[in-house]
Amino acid sequence: MEKTYTINMLKTFEDCPQRYKFMYVDNLRFPEQKSSKTDTGVKIHSLINYYLNGKDVSKMVVQLDKSDKLLWHNFLNSPVLKYHFLESEYAFDVKFGASRLTGRIDALFESEGEYIIVDWKTGEISDENERFQTMFYLCSLYEVYKQKHVPVTYDSFSLRYVLLNTGTNIRIAFSEELFMQYRNKILGLIDKIENGENYFCYKSAKCKNCKYLKLCPYL
Ligand code: SF4
Repeated sequence: MEKTYTINMLKTFEDCPQRYKFMYVDNLRFPEQKSSKTDTGVKIHSLINYYLNGKDVSKMVVQLDKSDKLLWHNFLNSPVLKYHFLESEYAFDVKFGASRLTGRIDALFESEGEYIIVDWKTGEISDENERFQTMFYLCSLYEVYKQKHVPVTYDSFSLRYVLLNTGTNIRIAFSEELFMQYRNKILGLIDKIENGENYFCYKSAKCKNCKYLKLCPYL
């Protein structure tokens, strides 16, 4: 039977195979600890989703605090809004090699035949996380369209990180070369998860913040 992978599963395995084992093999999950940053992210993403789907959000916007109002202002002035809106909170579940990839894209726009994946960022971005998201979303969406027989090429897709705290955005183009590189990386990780002999992990700087520190056999 096909196994389904999320971005968090693959990223966790890449970061530390032992942590992957704790979370997804032993199912040892701790409840998420809420922070003001995650609260802001959830609030702004929900507002954007309502707005893009034509709901009146004016009464909710009035209640935002000053820093959240700046994020909202930058959203309303984002250049991506001039493109044709297709969907928000776009959920996908697609065959990928012998497995499936599943996830949710913040929003999808279209402009002159180009499908634009949009990821709203309300906080700092990290190269490492964005590299992984870029790889996962572009490969998945390409497969979704290809498997639906939509006539697309690799350069029919791009990804935009819209940085709401600075009012800027980063565009990442797609190509066959990138697809092959990303595909090999994703399939390589899945192969290691399914056929690896153990979950060994070298101690890293990340260990000190790891929720499994006291249980970890490698420390
Ligand atoms: S403590 Fe370090 S090696 Fe152990 S699971 Fe956590 S990140 Fe991995």
